[in-house]
Amino acid sequence: MVEVIRNTSDGSRPAVEGKASLPRLSFEFFPPGTPAAEERFWDAVVGLSALNPEFVSVTYGAGGTTQERTFKAIDRLRRETALEPAAHLTCVGASRAEIDAIAEKYWEAGVRRIVALRGDAPQGSAGYEPHPQGYAYAADLVAGLKRVADFEISVAAYPEVHPEACSAAADLDNLKRKLDAGASQAITQFFFDPDDYLRFIDRARAAGITAPIIPGILPIVNFQRTREIAASCNAALPGWLVDLYADLEENNQVRHPVAVSLAVDLCRYLMARGVEDFHFYTLNRADLTAAVCRLLRNDVRSGQSQRERPRLLAGGLS
Ligand SMILES: Cc1cc2nc3c(=O)[nH]c(=O)nc-3n(C[C@H](O)[C@H](O)[C@H](O)COP(=O)(O)OP(=O)(O)OC[C@H]3O[C@@H](n4cnc5c(N)ncnc54)[C@H](O)[C@@H]3O)c2cc1C
Repeated sequence: MVEVIRNTSDGSRPAVEGKASLPRLSFEFFPPGTPAAEERFWDAVVGLSALNPEFVSVTYGAGGTTQERTFKAIDRLRRETALEPAAHLTCVGASRAEIDAIAEKYWEAGVRRIVALRGDAPQGSAGYEPHPQGYAYAADLVAGLKRVADFEISVAAYPEVHPEACSAAADLDNLKRKLDAGASQAITQFFFDPDDYLRFIDRARAAGITAPIIPGILPIVNFQRTREIAASCNAALPGWLVDLYADLEENNQVRHPVAVSLAVDLCRYLMARGVEDFHFYTLNRADLTAAVCRLLRNDVRSGQSQRERPRLLAGGLS
């Protein structure tokens, strides 16, 4: 028997004797824009729903470009599936009144979860500028959403520090502000060195942040694209990973099993240290994420995960 560290609603992490529990999962999709993409989206949703996720989220395009598509996907998920949908919403390109109206529309449609983000400037623009009548930062958005209705709100967190933050400490203060404004948990940007996440959790707990901080896991579908996104969001690509993909990009037969193996290793490392929640950036495909999650759940069912003792961190993990 191994001590298993469980999250509680207040973020504390009492040790519980007993069997390791299955990892809790959530899946992120982007809203489809064409009939073919729509088919892929629903294939991915169906393919992953058997894993019984805590929630599935749908992103919101830069500058609010996908507002209608995000709503349509979320609304259909709520009406036609048993899944719990979470709508991403950003501050970009809309006044507070417009954002409040979107939030009201979600609430009336029965949607209770929101992932509240600042968003980024649309491509080609000079940088992020708050809308003159808008919510300037995610913390303001969270407070505004809570005034509209009692949503369950997730916010973003950055193990390797948000690229525009003036310091790591200022970025943590910002995370704290978002949680104090009414968010109940954070989801991290993806990362490839699990110790970056664990060190971040240590810093967050030391700063008095007790809410769950769920690691965001990206199974690599396309390394070149991953590299571009990583550069824009300050996620480091370890040298060994760059070397590994140097001659893999064109090799479909090998790169997908490799991506599964890398994500499984990352999650196993975290699970061995007490992490039980994982948010997957699915890129609207079920295969890689489903394979990773099935292997992780099998670890627990077969007792494999109990062979490693969790590292007990002060104050809790995700
Ligand atoms: C899980 C997850 C999901 C995402 N989903 C989407 C999505 O659907 N659509 C999308 O467009 N983007 C999405 N993003 C990207 C996100 O919008 C960007 O990372 C964006 O640059 C920051 O958003 P934020 O909510 O973290 O912003 P904030 O928390 O507002 O922080 C943004 C920056 O401003 C700083 N800051 C905050 N408040 C202040 C202040 N008062 N004064 C000065 N500086 C301040 C912070 O330290 C940080 O550097 C997502 C990111 C994550 C991790």
